[in-house]
Amino acid sequence: MNLTILGSTGSIGASTLDVVARHPDRYRVTALTAQCRDEILFEQCLRFKPRYAVLLDEAAAARLKQKLSVAALDTEVLHGMEALERVSSLPEVDAVMAAIVGAAGLRPTLAAARAGKKILLANKETLVMAGAVFMDAVRASGSVLLPIDSEHNAIFQSLPRDYAGDMAASGVSKILLTASGGPFRNTPLSELQSVTPEQACAHPNWSMGKKISVDSASMMNKGLEVIEAHWLFNVPADVIEVVVHPQSVIHSLVQYVDGSVLAQLGNPDMRTPIAYALAWPERIAAGVAPLDLYKVAQLDFTAPDFARFPCLGLAYQALRAGGTAPAVMNAANEVAVAAFLERRISFTAIPRLIEDVLASLPVSAVNTLDDVLGADVAARAAARTWGRQ
Ligand code: NAD
Ligand code: MG
Repeated sequence: MNLTILGSTGSIGASTLDVVARHPDRYRVTALTAQCRDEILFEQCLRFKPRYAVLLDEAAAARLKQKLSVAALDTEVLHGMEALERVSSLPEVDAVMAAIVGAAGLRPTLAAARAGKKILLANKETLVMAGAVFMDAVRASGSVLLPIDSEHNAIFQSLPRDYAGDMAASGVSKILLTASGGPFRNTPLSELQSVTPEQACAHPNWSMGKKISVDSASMMNKGLEVIEAHWLFNVPADVIEVVVHPQSVIHSLVQYVDGSVLAQLGNPDMRTPIAYALAWPERIAAGVAPLDLYKVAQLDFTAPDFARFPCLGLAYQALRAGGTAPAVMNAANEVAVAAFLERRISFTAIPRLIEDVLASLPVSAVNTLDDVLGADVAARAAARTWGRQ
Protein backbone atom coordinates (compact mmCIF):
# COMPACT_ATOMS: atom_id res chain seq x y z
CA MET A 1 0.00 0.00 0.00
CA ASN A 2 1.33 3.42 -0.99
CA LEU A 3 1.00 6.11 1.66
CA THR A 4 1.05 9.87 1.89
CA ILE A 5 1.71 11.04 5.43
CA LEU A 6 0.57 14.62 5.97
CA GLY A 7 2.33 16.07 9.03
CA SER A 8 4.99 13.35 9.18
CA THR A 9 7.24 15.35 11.53
CA GLY A 10 4.57 15.59 14.25
CA SER A 11 3.60 13.26 17.04
CA ILE A 12 1.07 11.25 14.99
CA GLY A 13 3.36 11.37 11.95
CA ALA A 14 6.26 9.86 13.94
CA SER A 15 4.03 7.15 15.41
CA THR A 16 2.74 6.33 11.93
CA LEU A 17 6.28 5.94 10.57
CA ASP A 18 7.12 3.75 13.56
CA VAL A 19 4.29 1.34 12.64
CA VAL A 20 5.11 1.54 8.92
CA ALA A 21 8.76 0.65 9.62
CA ARG A 22 7.62 -2.55 11.34
CA HIS A 23 5.88 -3.72 8.13
CA PRO A 24 8.09 -2.85 5.15
CA ASP A 25 6.43 -5.65 3.15
CA ARG A 26 2.99 -4.00 3.46
CA TYR A 27 3.60 -0.24 3.25
CA ARG A 28 5.57 2.10 1.05
CA VAL A 29 5.84 5.83 1.67
CA THR A 30 5.07 7.88 -1.42
CA ALA A 31 5.04 11.33 0.19
CA LEU A 32 6.05 12.90 3.49
CA THR A 33 5.04 16.44 4.44
CA ALA A 34 5.71 19.05 7.11
CA GLN A 35 5.30 22.75 7.76
CA CYS A 36 8.89 23.93 8.12
CA ARG A 37 11.06 21.40 9.99
CA ASP A 38 13.31 20.40 7.14
CA GLU A 39 15.96 18.66 9.31
CA ILE A 40 13.48 16.10 10.61
CA LEU A 41 11.95 15.67 7.18
CA PHE A 42 15.42 15.10 5.76
CA GLU A 43 16.10 12.30 8.28
CA GLN A 44 12.74 10.76 7.42
CA CYS A 45 13.54 10.96 3.70
CA LEU A 46 16.85 9.16 4.25
CA ARG A 47 15.05 6.38 6.08
CA PHE A 48 11.84 5.99 4.04
CA LYS A 49 12.95 7.21 0.59
CA PRO A 50 9.62 8.77 -0.45
CA ARG A 51 8.95 9.82 -4.05
CA TYR A 52 7.93 13.30 -2.80
CA ALA A 53 8.71 15.50 0.22
CA VAL A 54 6.59 18.60 0.72
CA LEU A 55 7.15 21.57 3.02
CA LEU A 56 4.64 24.36 3.40
CA ASP A 57 7.51 26.80 3.77
CA GLU A 58 9.45 27.67 0.61
CA ALA A 59 12.78 28.44 2.30
CA ALA A 60 12.66 25.18 4.24
CA ALA A 61 11.95 23.35 0.98
CA ALA A 62 15.03 24.92 -0.62
CA ARG A 63 17.17 23.73 2.32
CA LEU A 64 15.75 20.22 2.06
CA LYS A 65 16.38 20.10 -1.67
CA GLN A 66 19.99 21.05 -1.11
CA LYS A 67 20.53 18.38 1.56
CA LEU A 68 18.84 15.69 -0.52
CA SER A 69 20.98 16.45 -3.54
CA VAL A 70 24.16 16.21 -1.43
CA ALA A 71 22.86 12.86 -0.15
CA ALA A 72 22.11 11.81 -3.77
CA LEU A 73 18.49 10.96 -3.01
CA ASP A 74 16.01 11.39 -5.84
CA THR A 75 13.06 12.49 -3.68
CA GLU A 76 11.30 15.39 -5.39
CA VAL A 77 10.84 18.43 -3.12
CA LEU A 78 7.71 20.56 -3.45
CA HIS A 79 6.34 23.41 -1.37
CA GLY A 80 3.09 25.19 -0.60
CA MET A 81 -0.55 24.31 0.01
CA GLU A 82 -1.22 23.20 -3.57
CA ALA A 83 1.62 20.69 -3.34
CA LEU A 84 0.09 19.31 -0.12
CA GLU A 85 -3.19 18.87 -1.99
CA ARG A 86 -1.38 17.28 -4.91
CA VAL A 87 0.40 14.58 -2.89
CA SER A 88 -2.92 13.81 -1.17
CA SER A 89 -4.57 13.00 -4.48
CA LEU A 90 -1.82 11.34 -6.59
CA PRO A 91 -3.13 8.37 -8.58
CA GLU A 92 -0.43 6.07 -7.17
CA VAL A 93 -1.36 6.85 -3.55
CA ASP A 94 -3.77 4.39 -1.87
CA ALA A 95 -4.08 5.93 1.59
CA VAL A 96 -3.49 9.31 3.22
CA MET A 97 -2.66 9.77 6.89
CA ALA A 98 -4.15 13.20 7.68
CA ALA A 99 -2.01 14.31 10.63
CA ILE A 100 -1.50 18.03 10.09
CA VAL A 101 -2.61 19.99 13.16
CA GLY A 102 -5.40 22.56 12.96
CA ALA A 103 -7.26 24.26 10.14
CA ALA A 104 -4.16 23.93 7.90
CA GLY A 105 -5.09 20.27 7.46
CA LEU A 106 -8.47 20.98 5.89
CA ARG A 107 -7.54 21.50 2.24
CA PRO A 108 -5.17 18.53 1.80
CA THR A 109 -7.51 16.21 3.74
CA LEU A 110 -10.44 17.33 1.60
CA ALA A 111 -8.32 16.77 -1.52
CA ALA A 112 -7.76 13.16 -0.39
CA ALA A 113 -11.52 12.73 0.11
CA ARG A 114 -12.33 14.15 -3.30
CA ALA A 115 -9.78 11.80 -4.88
CA GLY A 116 -11.42 8.78 -3.21
CA LYS A 117 -8.40 7.85 -1.09
CA LYS A 118 -8.52 5.73 2.01
CA ILE A 119 -8.24 8.40 4.72
CA LEU A 120 -6.71 7.81 8.13
CA LEU A 121 -8.12 10.84 9.90
CA ALA A 122 -6.20 12.32 12.83
CA ASN A 123 -6.91 15.96 11.86
CA LYS A 124 -10.18 16.33 13.77
CA GLU A 125 -10.31 20.04 12.90
CA THR A 126 -11.31 19.08 9.33
CA LEU A 127 -14.56 17.56 10.63
CA VAL A 128 -15.16 20.33 13.16
CA MET A 129 -14.79 23.06 10.54
CA ALA A 130 -16.28 21.43 7.50
CA GLY A 131 -18.04 18.23 8.59
CA ALA A 132 -20.87 18.47 6.06
CA VAL A 133 -18.62 19.37 3.11
CA PHE A 134 -16.04 16.72 4.00
CA MET A 135 -18.53 13.90 4.61
CA ASP A 136 -20.28 14.73 1.32
CA ALA A 137 -16.93 14.45 -0.47
CA VAL A 138 -16.21 11.11 1.23
CA ARG A 139 -19.60 9.71 0.20
CA ALA A 140 -19.40 11.07 -3.35
CA SER A 141 -15.97 9.57 -4.05
CA GLY A 142 -16.43 6.36 -2.07
CA SER A 143 -13.45 7.12 0.21
CA VAL A 144 -12.93 4.78 3.13
CA LEU A 145 -12.72 6.94 6.26
CA LEU A 146 -10.97 5.47 9.30
CA PRO A 147 -10.70 7.46 12.53
CA ILE A 148 -7.30 7.73 14.21
CA ASP A 149 -8.40 9.73 17.25
CA SER A 150 -8.26 7.03 19.94
CA GLU A 151 -11.84 7.61 21.12
CA HIS A 152 -13.32 7.48 17.64
CA ASN A 153 -11.18 4.53 16.70
CA ALA A 154 -12.53 2.77 19.81
CA ILE A 155 -16.12 3.66 18.84
CA PHE A 156 -15.47 2.47 15.29
CA GLN A 157 -14.20 -0.83 16.69
CA SER A 158 -17.24 -1.12 19.01
CA LEU A 159 -19.88 -0.45 16.32
CA PRO A 160 -21.13 -3.21 14.01
CA ARG A 161 -18.81 -3.75 11.04
CA ASP A 162 -21.61 -2.77 8.64
CA TYR A 163 -22.59 0.37 10.56
CA ALA A 164 -23.81 2.87 7.97
CA GLY A 165 -24.65 5.91 10.04
CA ASP A 166 -28.06 4.70 11.19
CA MET A 167 -28.02 4.46 15.00
CA ALA A 168 -31.55 3.14 15.30
CA ALA A 169 -31.06 0.43 12.69
CA SER A 170 -27.95 -0.76 14.54
CA GLY A 171 -29.60 -0.64 17.98
CA VAL A 172 -27.17 2.00 19.26
CA SER A 173 -28.53 4.16 22.09
CA LYS A 174 -25.52 6.21 23.18
CA ILE A 175 -21.90 7.08 22.41
CA LEU A 176 -19.74 7.39 25.52
CA LEU A 177 -16.58 9.38 24.84
CA THR A 178 -13.95 8.96 27.53
CA ALA A 179 -11.72 11.86 28.60
CA SER A 180 -8.71 11.78 30.89
CA GLY A 181 -9.56 15.20 32.33
CA GLY A 182 -6.04 16.39 31.47
CA PRO A 183 -3.44 17.84 33.82
CA PHE A 184 -5.83 20.26 35.57
CA ARG A 185 -8.58 17.83 36.55
CA ASN A 186 -7.94 18.43 40.26
CA THR A 187 -6.11 21.77 40.22
CA PRO A 188 -7.77 24.28 42.59
CA LEU A 189 -9.96 26.55 40.44
CA SER A 190 -8.23 29.65 41.82
CA GLU A 191 -4.89 28.42 40.40
CA LEU A 192 -6.13 27.79 36.83
CA GLN A 193 -5.74 31.48 36.02
CA SER A 194 -1.96 31.29 36.41
CA VAL A 195 -1.05 27.87 34.97
CA THR A 196 1.80 27.93 32.43
CA PRO A 197 2.07 26.45 28.91
CA GLU A 198 4.58 23.93 30.31
CA GLN A 199 2.05 22.71 32.89
CA ALA A 200 -0.70 22.59 30.27
CA CYS A 201 1.46 20.53 27.90
CA ALA A 202 2.44 17.98 30.56
CA HIS A 203 -0.37 15.52 29.88
CA PRO A 204 -0.64 12.71 32.44
CA ASN A 205 -1.22 9.85 29.94
CA TRP A 206 -0.46 10.91 26.36
CA SER A 207 2.52 12.53 24.67
CA MET A 208 1.19 14.80 21.90
CA GLY A 209 1.76 18.01 19.94
CA LYS A 210 1.41 21.31 21.83
CA LYS A 211 -1.91 22.43 20.39
CA ILE A 212 -3.79 19.23 21.22
CA SER A 213 -2.09 19.15 24.64
CA VAL A 214 -3.49 22.59 25.52
CA ASP A 215 -6.86 21.51 24.07
CA SER A 216 -6.76 18.49 26.37
CA ALA A 217 -5.99 20.67 29.37
CA SER A 218 -8.98 22.95 28.60
CA MET A 219 -11.11 19.97 27.49
CA MET A 220 -11.70 21.76 24.19
CA ASN A 221 -10.16 18.61 22.75
CA LYS A 222 -13.13 16.62 24.06
CA GLY A 223 -15.45 19.29 22.70
CA LEU A 224 -13.85 18.97 19.25
CA GLU A 225 -14.20 15.20 19.60
CA VAL A 226 -17.93 15.47 20.36
CA ILE A 227 -18.33 17.31 17.04
CA GLU A 228 -16.02 14.81 15.33
CA ALA A 229 -18.18 11.92 16.61
CA HIS A 230 -21.32 13.66 15.37
CA TRP A 231 -20.01 13.70 11.80
CA LEU A 232 -18.21 10.37 11.76
CA PHE A 233 -21.08 8.33 13.17
CA ASN A 234 -24.07 10.52 12.24
CA VAL A 235 -25.23 10.88 15.86
CA PRO A 236 -26.86 13.95 17.44
CA ALA A 237 -25.28 15.91 20.31
CA ASP A 238 -27.87 14.57 22.79
CA VAL A 239 -26.62 10.99 22.57
CA ILE A 240 -22.91 11.82 22.84
CA GLU A 241 -21.88 11.75 26.48
CA VAL A 242 -18.47 12.61 27.87
CA VAL A 243 -17.19 10.44 30.73
CA VAL A 244 -14.07 11.43 32.65
CA HIS A 245 -11.86 8.36 33.02
CA PRO A 246 -8.43 9.39 34.29
CA GLN A 247 -6.61 6.12 33.52
CA SER A 248 -7.18 6.40 29.71
CA VAL A 249 -7.48 2.62 29.39
CA ILE A 250 -11.03 2.47 28.06
CA HIS A 251 -10.77 4.56 24.90
CA SER A 252 -14.56 4.95 24.46
CA LEU A 253 -17.76 2.93 24.55
CA VAL A 254 -20.94 2.27 22.59
CA GLN A 255 -24.17 1.58 24.45
CA TYR A 256 -26.88 -0.52 22.76
CA VAL A 257 -30.65 -0.64 23.31
CA ASP A 258 -30.47 -4.12 24.85
CA GLY A 259 -28.25 -2.85 27.69
CA SER A 260 -24.96 -4.06 26.20
CA VAL A 261 -22.01 -1.70 26.32
CA LEU A 262 -19.07 -2.46 24.03
CA ALA A 263 -15.72 -0.79 24.54
CA GLN A 264 -12.15 -0.91 23.28
CA LEU A 265 -9.35 -1.00 25.85
CA GLY A 266 -5.60 -0.70 25.57
CA ASN A 267 -2.55 1.16 26.75
CA PRO A 268 -2.64 4.85 25.82
CA ASP A 269 -0.42 4.60 22.74
CA MET A 270 -1.51 6.07 19.39
CA ARG A 271 0.23 3.29 17.50
CA THR A 272 -2.76 1.04 18.30
CA PRO A 273 -5.38 3.11 16.42
CA ILE A 274 -2.83 3.89 13.70
CA ALA A 275 -2.02 0.20 13.12
CA TYR A 276 -5.73 -0.65 13.23
CA ALA A 277 -6.54 1.90 10.54
CA LEU A 278 -3.51 1.04 8.40
CA ALA A 279 -4.35 -2.66 8.26
CA TRP A 280 -8.17 -2.51 8.52
CA PRO A 281 -9.96 -4.89 8.32
CA GLU A 282 -6.92 -6.94 9.31
CA ARG A 283 -4.78 -6.55 12.44
CA ILE A 284 -1.04 -6.02 12.56
CA ALA A 285 1.52 -5.63 15.35
CA ALA A 286 1.96 -2.02 16.49
CA GLY A 287 4.85 -2.29 18.95
CA VAL A 288 2.47 -1.52 21.83
CA ALA A 289 2.97 -3.31 25.15
CA PRO A 290 0.09 -5.64 26.07
CA LEU A 291 -2.39 -4.21 28.54
CA ASP A 292 -1.61 -5.39 32.08
CA LEU A 293 -4.97 -5.33 33.87
CA TYR A 294 -3.41 -6.15 37.24
CA LYS A 295 -1.13 -3.18 36.91
CA VAL A 296 -4.09 -0.96 35.92
CA ALA A 297 -6.02 -2.48 38.85
CA GLN A 298 -8.67 0.22 38.96
CA LEU A 299 -10.80 2.16 36.50
CA ASP A 300 -12.54 5.37 37.63
CA PHE A 301 -15.39 7.30 36.03
CA THR A 302 -16.84 10.72 36.85
CA ALA A 303 -19.06 13.25 35.09
CA PRO A 304 -17.25 16.19 33.44
CA ASP A 305 -17.20 19.49 35.33
CA PHE A 306 -18.61 22.04 32.89
CA ALA A 307 -17.79 24.93 35.23
CA ARG A 308 -14.12 23.99 35.40
CA PHE A 309 -13.99 23.28 31.65
CA PRO A 310 -16.22 25.87 29.89
CA CYS A 311 -14.76 24.89 26.49
CA LEU A 312 -16.65 21.61 26.61
CA GLY A 313 -19.98 23.41 26.95
CA LEU A 314 -19.02 25.86 24.19
CA ALA A 315 -18.40 22.95 21.82
CA TYR A 316 -21.81 21.38 22.52
CA GLN A 317 -23.33 24.83 22.01
CA ALA A 318 -21.54 25.28 18.66
CA LEU A 319 -22.56 21.81 17.48
CA ARG A 320 -26.20 22.54 18.33
CA ALA A 321 -26.03 25.96 16.64
CA GLY A 322 -24.69 24.24 13.50
CA GLY A 323 -23.71 26.03 10.27
CA THR A 324 -20.56 28.09 10.62
CA ALA A 325 -20.54 28.01 14.46
CA PRO A 326 -18.11 25.07 14.86
CA ALA A 327 -15.69 26.60 12.31
CA VAL A 328 -15.82 29.91 14.19
CA MET A 329 -15.21 28.14 17.49
CA ASN A 330 -12.31 26.16 16.04
CA ALA A 331 -10.62 29.26 14.60
CA ALA A 332 -11.08 31.25 17.83
CA ASN A 333 -9.65 28.32 19.77
CA GLU A 334 -6.58 28.08 17.52
CA VAL A 335 -5.85 31.79 17.96
CA ALA A 336 -6.46 31.55 21.73
CA VAL A 337 -4.22 28.51 22.16
CA ALA A 338 -1.41 30.15 20.17
CA ALA A 339 -1.75 33.29 22.32
CA PHE A 340 -1.65 31.19 25.50
CA LEU A 341 1.44 29.30 24.30
CA GLU A 342 3.10 32.67 23.61
CA ARG A 343 2.09 33.82 27.12
CA ARG A 344 -0.06 36.67 25.76
CA ILE A 345 -3.27 35.48 27.42
CA SER A 346 -4.00 33.37 30.50
CA PHE A 347 -5.33 29.82 30.40
CA THR A 348 -8.73 30.93 31.70
CA ALA A 349 -8.96 33.59 28.97
CA ILE A 350 -9.15 30.82 26.32
CA PRO A 351 -12.87 30.02 26.85
CA ARG A 352 -13.70 33.71 27.38
CA LEU A 353 -12.15 34.63 24.05
CA ILE A 354 -13.95 31.81 22.26
CA GLU A 355 -17.30 32.67 23.83
CA ASP A 356 -16.97 36.33 22.86
CA VAL A 357 -15.98 35.51 19.26
CA LEU A 358 -18.89 33.06 18.94
CA ALA A 359 -21.27 35.72 20.28
CA SER A 360 -19.90 38.43 17.96
CA LEU A 361 -20.34 36.53 14.67
CA PRO A 362 -23.73 35.49 13.29
CA VAL A 363 -24.18 31.81 12.45
CA SER A 364 -24.73 31.19 8.75
CA ALA A 365 -25.35 28.08 6.68
CA VAL A 366 -22.48 26.00 5.28
CA ASN A 367 -22.98 24.84 1.70
CA THR A 368 -19.48 25.10 0.29
CA LEU A 369 -15.86 25.10 1.36
CA ASP A 370 -15.80 28.88 0.86
CA ASP A 371 -18.52 29.30 3.51
CA VAL A 372 -16.21 27.51 5.95
CA LEU A 373 -13.07 29.40 4.96
CA GLY A 374 -14.92 32.73 5.20
CA ALA A 375 -16.07 31.92 8.75
CA ASP A 376 -12.54 30.85 9.66
CA VAL A 377 -11.02 34.14 8.43
CA ALA A 378 -13.67 36.28 10.17
CA ALA A 379 -13.27 34.40 13.45
CA ARG A 380 -9.47 34.68 13.38
CA ALA A 381 -9.73 38.43 12.79
CA ALA A 382 -12.16 38.83 15.71
CA ALA A 383 -10.03 36.59 17.94
CA ARG A 384 -6.81 38.54 17.20
CA THR A 385 -8.31 41.83 18.33
CA TRP A 386 -9.99 40.30 21.39
CA GLY A 387 -9.20 42.15 24.58
CA ARG A 388 -8.00 45.21 22.67
CA GLN A 389 -11.42 46.88 22.28
P1 NAD B 1 2.09 18.02 16.03
O1 NAD B 1 2.09 19.45 16.37
O2 NAD B 1 2.97 17.09 16.77
O3 NAD B 1 2.40 17.83 14.46
C1 NAD B 1 1.73 18.57 13.51
C2 NAD B 1 2.25 18.27 12.10
O4 NAD B 1 1.55 19.12 11.20
C3 NAD B 1 3.73 18.53 11.90
O5 NAD B 1 4.27 17.58 11.02
C4 NAD B 1 3.76 19.92 11.25
O6 NAD B 1 4.87 20.13 10.42
C5 NAD B 1 2.49 19.90 10.44
N1 NAD B 1 1.92 21.24 10.27
C6 NAD B 1 1.63 22.14 11.26
N2 NAD B 1 1.13 23.27 10.74
C7 NAD B 1 1.12 23.11 9.40
C8 NAD B 1 0.74 23.94 8.32
N3 NAD B 1 0.29 25.19 8.51
N4 NAD B 1 0.83 23.44 7.06
C9 NAD B 1 1.31 22.19 6.85
N5 NAD B 1 1.70 21.36 7.84
C10 NAD B 1 1.60 21.81 9.10
O7 NAD B 1 0.55 17.53 16.14
P2 NAD B 1 0.00 16.09 16.53
O8 NAD B 1 -0.11 15.97 18.00
O9 NAD B 1 0.71 15.04 15.75
O10 NAD B 1 -1.52 16.21 16.01
C11 NAD B 1 -1.83 16.15 14.63
C12 NAD B 1 -3.34 16.03 14.48
O11 NAD B 1 -3.75 14.78 15.06
C13 NAD B 1 -4.13 17.11 15.22
O12 NAD B 1 -5.26 17.44 14.48
C14 NAD B 1 -4.54 16.43 16.52
O13 NAD B 1 -5.74 16.94 17.05
C15 NAD B 1 -4.74 14.99 16.05
N6 NAD B 1 -4.56 14.00 17.12
C16 NAD B 1 -3.35 13.86 17.73
C17 NAD B 1 -3.18 12.93 18.75
C18 NAD B 1 -1.84 12.74 19.42
O14 NAD B 1 -1.71 11.82 20.23
N7 NAD B 1 -0.82 13.53 19.13
C19 NAD B 1 -4.27 12.13 19.14
C20 NAD B 1 -5.49 12.30 18.49
C21 NAD B 1 -5.63 13.24 17.47
MG1 MG C 1 -8.67 11.81 21.29
